[in-house]
Amino acid sequence: MAVRVRDAPLSATVSRRDEVTGLLQELIRLDTVNPPGNETRAAELLRDYLEENGVACELYAKEPERANLVARIPGSGDGPRLALLSHTDTVLADPTEWQVDPWSGELRDGEIWGRGALDMKGQVAASAVAMASLAREGFRPGGDLIFVAAADEEVGVDIGLSWLCKEHPEAVRAEYSLNEGAGDRAVIGGRPFYLASTAEKMSSPFVLRVRGRSGHASMPAIADNALVKAARLIERLGEFTPEPRIEPEVTAFFEAALGSTPEDPNRVLELARGVDPLAAELVEPLLGMTLSPTMIGASQKRNVIPALCEVTVDCRLLPGQTQAEAEEVVRGLLGDEDYELEWVERYGGTRSPMAGPLWDAIESWVVETEPGAAVAPICLAGFTDSHWLRDAFGTVAYGFFPLRYMDAQVATRLVHSADERARVDDLELGVEFLRYAARAMS
Ligand SMILES: [Zn+2]
Repeated sequence: MAVRVRDAPLSATVSRRDEVTGLLQELIRLDTVNPPGNETRAAELLRDYLEENGVACELYAKEPERANLVARIPGSGDGPRLALLSHTDTVLADPTEWQVDPWSGELRDGEIWGRGALDMKGQVAASAVAMASLAREGFRPGGDLIFVAAADEEVGVDIGLSWLCKEHPEAVRAEYSLNEGAGDRAVIGGRPFYLASTAEKMSSPFVLRVRGRSGHASMPAIADNALVKAARLIERLGEFTPEPRIEPEVTAFFEAALGSTPEDPNRVLELARGVDPLAAELVEPLLGMTLSPTMIGASQKRNVIPALCEVTVDCRLLPGQTQAEAEEVVRGLLGDEDYELEWVERYGGTRSPMAGPLWDAIESWVVETEPGAAVAPICLAGFTDSHWLRDAFGTVAYGFFPLRYMDAQVATRLVHSADERARVDDLELGVEFLRYAARAMS
């Protein structure tokens, strides 16, 4: 059942507020926990709502139950395309941990409760309302204004945006895009900033294989215990601290938030901490790669000494840093122990320039919305769907959805956790920002 906004006899602003509230409630009530996802439910709801408002939609599905929605307000052809990116799947929720039913979409004290309210059905709803309201007003952009509500961001089995980029590139190709990732309001050194993510680290896990010789556990001397050998390597990984570097995002962050340019990589963290602990927290992941051993496998039986031990290491690289470069560092750290190292995969590790029309639009919106505030670029330690567009089309992609009214620390704790909820004030602000950005880009 779509939100029927044409009947709403309200002023323009009030109706958009009600519209985004109603749409988010309906989206939350459609369980799209991934796995299994079932995102087609959400795609069809959005399609019905957008088509009622005159926006052309197309569903693209590799699996029938897991459709992606792409909607478009066609441009006149003389401007860049802007894609409003989002995903409709969510992580799971354990109802016993929640104060309300996680799929209730309950509105309580100006907040909408439910799984996905922040990550990221709120932004899905806001993007759809921005599209619908612009279409009703007869908005004609220079380049296409595209809305992508993708499936399968939380797991990644190649049926969401990665698949669209390969199989339907013309549907999602865009010069610019706005996605999740940042937008939080942060007070740094007494001044308000809105964080915009312009880069993401690369998720680049690897496995270490350590070999020994099996034997009966009652006679350790006859065997060569691979688990014990691996322990030495794990300790070294745990002690790793990267040689700090100053990436462009750190320089830009310092210039925006601290009013200075950092010179000495070894002093960056200390300088940031001197201004605000939050500044240090934001800068730290960008100073170098990280290594966290997280999983281990050895003997399947208590009384058998393992001949093989496998250690999985979560490794995050700086944008632009290669696995070959990282491997040199890891091998240097581990010394001449006997082991094999195998990279498992690589995702993300892309960046976009912190300049240009979309960047200007974010900056001018922030200044107009909250005089005295400014934008500060950040690099995410994790990654989002933005990297698929950057990789496929060289899209200038930012993570920016304003979060002004809910405390950013509270929001961070609620994402993927119990009692997730979004403030209606923030959703309304999000709609207004997306409309502003779409207009600014034409
Ligand atoms: Zn998300």
